[in-house]
Amino acid sequence: MPKVYMCSFCGGRIEPGSGLTYVLRNGVILHFCSSKCFKNFKLGRDPKKIPWSAYYVLRK
Ligand SMILES: [Zn+2]
Repeated sequence: MPKVYMCSFCGGRIEPGSGLTYVLRNGVILHFCSSKCFKNFKLGRDPKKIPWSAYYVLRK
């Protein structure tokens, strides 16, 4: 069984064979379910502030 990863940005499940993997210079491996999540990560957006991300936190 191939390992199923969670998207590092939106927290969604990544089907085996889909999504993309990105390795940071410090060796941390990130997985993204789509180029949409990857683009948002590259833009430096905080997933906690993205409403469609599972990491989104409502501000009080
Ligand atoms: Zn995602």
